[in-house]
Amino acid sequence: MDKINSKKKRIYLCLAHPGGKEQDYIRKAFEDDWIAPLGPNVDGFEDDLKQFLGGEKEVLAVSSGTAAVHLGLVGCGVGPGDEVIAQTFTFCASVNPIVYLGAKPILVDSEKDTWNMDPDLLEEAIKDRILKTGRAPKAIVPVSLYGMPYKVDRILEIADKYGIPVVEDSAEALGSRFDGKALGTFGRFGVLSFNGNKMITTSGGGALICPDPETKKRMLHYATQAREPFPYYQHENLGYNYRLSNVCAGIGRGQMLVADEHVRHHHKVAKMYADLLKDIPGIQVHGNPSSEIDSNFWLSTIVLNPDLRVRGQDARPKGETSCEPSPNVMALIGQLDAAGIETRPLWKPMHQQPLYKDVPYYGQAEPVSENLFRAGLCLPSGPRVTEEDVRYICETVHKSIEA
Ligand SMILES: *Cc1c(COP(=O)(O)O)cnc(C)c1O
Repeated sequence: MDKINSKKKRIYLCLAHPGGKEQDYIRKAFEDDWIAPLGPNVDGFEDDLKQFLGGEKEVLAVSSGTAAVHLGLVGCGVGPGDEVIAQTFTFCASVNPIVYLGAKPILVDSEKDTWNMDPDLLEEAIKDRILKTGRAPKAIVPVSLYGMPYKVDRILEIADKYGIPVVEDSAEALGSRFDGKALGTFGRFGVLSFNGNKMITTSGGGALICPDPETKKRMLHYATQAREPFPYYQHENLGYNYRLSNVCAGIGRGQMLVADEHVRHHHKVAKMYADLLKDIPGIQVHGNPSSEIDSNFWLSTIVLNPDLRVRGQDARPKGETSCEPSPNVMALIGQLDAAGIETRPLWKPMHQQPLYKDVPYYGQAEPVSENLFRAGLCLPSGPRVTEEDVRYICETVHKSIEA
């Protein structure tokens, strides 16, 4: 108990972690009078990202990951009345931009290995939509949830077979790789997020990974209110104000200096959780399911067996709906919270959100995403989480389990 009482700081999931050089870039933006949504930091940040991703793709810095998803769909020509297939097990920002465009989300369940879009269900959904509407969906949005790459080869093979472009939501996957190649560089477009809780931050921001300079130029046009090159304001397309500020890009430049270090840290934390929790038979730590899949482990995640008993656990309350985390998950979150540790249930699937209750959904008879939502939780993993913290968290988990 001493250990718990002596613990003064709270341990968070993933807090922003300045590398030290951010202020220099911000100062430079002020000195050079570039307090605008363009400038040398924006160009430099885009170039840093391009190199980080392997140098083959172009990168457009934008104001958020959500904006990048939105622009990616615009780039695929998504418009009113179109259908777009998205992964149901995700954060709402993968799906909401489909609706912003007046299009209809079609939600697809996950497979058990990566927890991401199930390739077989994807193909079933495509075939069924073609049957029902007479045309193919306009885009596919697979996600690399918690940084874990989706089954890139299979999803792309199916997308190619039906000629449907892919917008990879790799908002959580900076530094993740499939077959040695960076996530976000496989589809027509890729998405990154630099929100305060992601792998790196610009305080708020994102990036759209584009296939070539021409496409980047076209997407920049849409991100700049689709302003035409006239001496006055001329508009022929519907645009958005989605550029990243040169001040925020300065934070991004500083963060890129520590991006590799952050990825190594998340890897180390994941390995520690796997080692320190492996003796609890009722807990599975989510790990890379095969050798070509290389997660950044943005957040380490665990799944509890239904029969695992946690201290302070309620009996299953009467009339409980299926779309809630199970009593042992809620009890463990409570135990860890009392010990000063922030944890969270996994993402609640979009097809179980009241907002999306009426959209078409293709799932397993035994829905993978629903089961994960019921049984799983995220553990602190960010660059501020020390090795000592991880040991303390695992110790607290051990103490919370009833024999
Ligand atoms: C964070 C996130 C986004 C959106 O990024 P923002 O920068 O917060 O707008 C999109 N998709 C997923 C899966 C995310 O985790």
